[in-house]
Amino acid sequence: ELEVALKVVIVGNGGVGKSSMIQRYCKGTFTKDYKKTIGVDFLERQIEVDGEDVRLMLWDTAGQEEFDAITKAYYRGAQACVLAFSTTDRDSFEAAHSWKLKVENECGEIPTVIVQNKIDLLDQSVVNPEEAEVLARALGCRLVRTSVKEDVNVSAVFRHLAQRCLAE
Ligand code: GDP
Ligand code: MG
Repeated sequence: ELEVALKVVIVGNGGVGKSSMIQRYCKGTFTKDYKKTIGVDFLERQIEVDGEDVRLMLWDTAGQEEFDAITKAYYRGAQACVLAFSTTDRDSFEAAHSWKLKVENECGEIPTVIVQNKIDLLDQSVVNPEEAEVLARALGCRLVRTSVKEDVNVSAVFRHLAQRCLAE
């Protein structure tokens, strides 16, 4: 039986928690000042979905998203996407649409989940719940609210993407 391997890219403005999410999901840890020190392009985790072994390769950016300089190599062959924004960062929410287009340009239509991260900071929210749902509907994606810090819903994001990919 063949193992399925999926390349997943995580996009969104700097500071929304992309690296933290990868680290949380693949290593089970959270630190307040995660810097990319790993000498590889991605971390991976193996899960079982509907009786199938799936190897998820989660690709991180080394902060180039700040300079709009993510290379084609980052996107190449990606089969699924996490598009993240932060509950406390209005710009990151406003940028979601253009991130979706960027991924579409490089990868075509691939299964994508919109992630509203940092829901542990709901008292500092600058995005109302309805707006987030409208955005997700407009982009044709599922919305998942996460707290990487408190480990809320992180696994659900990747499980959903793996299921979508297997179903294709
Ligand atoms: P990236 O630039 O998108 O890779 O973001 P990072 O993973 O470097 O995270 C930016 C900052 O947000 C770091 O200080 C993280 O510790 C913090 N952070 C990430 N996820 C959460 C979360 O769910 N809740 C809170 N409160 N902070 C978070
Ligand atoms: Mg990062």
